[in-house]
Amino acid sequence: SDAPEDMDPETWAKVKDHPCYSEEAHHYFARMHVAVAPACNIQCNYCNRKYDCANESRPGVVSERLTPEQAARKVIAVANEIPQLSVLGIAGPGDSAYDWRKTKETFQRVAETLPDIKLCLSTNGLALPDHVDDLLDMNIDHVTLTINMIDPEVGTKIYPWIFYDHKRRTGLEASQILHERQMQSLDMLHERGILVKVNSVMIPGINDEHLLEVNKEVKKRGAFLHNIMPLISAPEHGTVFGLEGQRGPTAAELKKLQDACAGGANLMKHCRQCRADAVGLLGEDRGQEFTMDLVPDEVT
Ligand code: SF4
Ligand code: SF4
Repeated sequence: SDAPEDMDPETWAKVKDHPCYSEEAHHYFARMHVAVAPACNIQCNYCNRKYDCANESRPGVVSERLTPEQAARKVIAVANEIPQLSVLGIAGPGDSAYDWRKTKETFQRVAETLPDIKLCLSTNGLALPDHVDDLLDMNIDHVTLTINMIDPEVGTKIYPWIFYDHKRRTGLEASQILHERQMQSLDMLHERGILVKVNSVMIPGINDEHLLEVNKEVKKRGAFLHNIMPLISAPEHGTVFGLEGQRGPTAAELKKLQDACAGGANLMKHCRQCRADAVGLLGEDRGQEFTMDLVPDEVT
């Protein structure tokens, strides 16, 4: 199909077979996530750490945590069963760039056996600038960054603390550092020709209006897509940590903001906020067929 109006043909050529970016591709190509990254270096006020990263995944879901060796075996087992498998993502259950050894080892092991699979990762960006050279070495051409603010004052209402440079930091300092590292991540990825999608979680009364400014800034810095996701408030799952009583946006509020933002929010309307261990075509999740007890000890 043709490139959307606001996307250059070169970018479109890179993403049109990616099930997450192309409405059409998502019927023909499968993706999977492996949950190899349990640790996280920040605290979002809407996250409950017992569950998958709420920036990238459905709230209230616990994915099966794997070692890099298990993950590689699982990916190969899935590729043997689902030949349309084209994308492997690491999106948690914590932050994929924090405990980098695990993410890197997983990608390396998979690439040895399945060199054609596209690799991608989702991260809050705090640790990413330290690993951008590795991304290039591993031919990773897509990264998703979750950016909920470009004003650290707004950030103080979203992030009670971050862990950075061996220290826990709180208040405005935490949000300032997070903001600087997120902008640095965007710039470094853009300079190196790695495609960046930005995810933002819309939190009514906290960052809803501010996300218009976020949209302008991330587009200016080269993000090819800005995906605005609703906060899914699910207190029964304990998903809301420091924002008790916080509601998510209504469908109309979400649509209004998406329509007001430039660049590709439309393309992402089919994003399902998949589990950190999702397997299959986008509309389906065959993860239960590939839990570790069902994956053979030896796969080739
Ligand atoms: Fe939770 Fe993800 Fe935020 Fe970390 S980045 S606190 S895992 S929502
Ligand atoms: Fe694709 Fe969204 Fe699912 Fe990620 S969470 S695999 S972007 S549909």
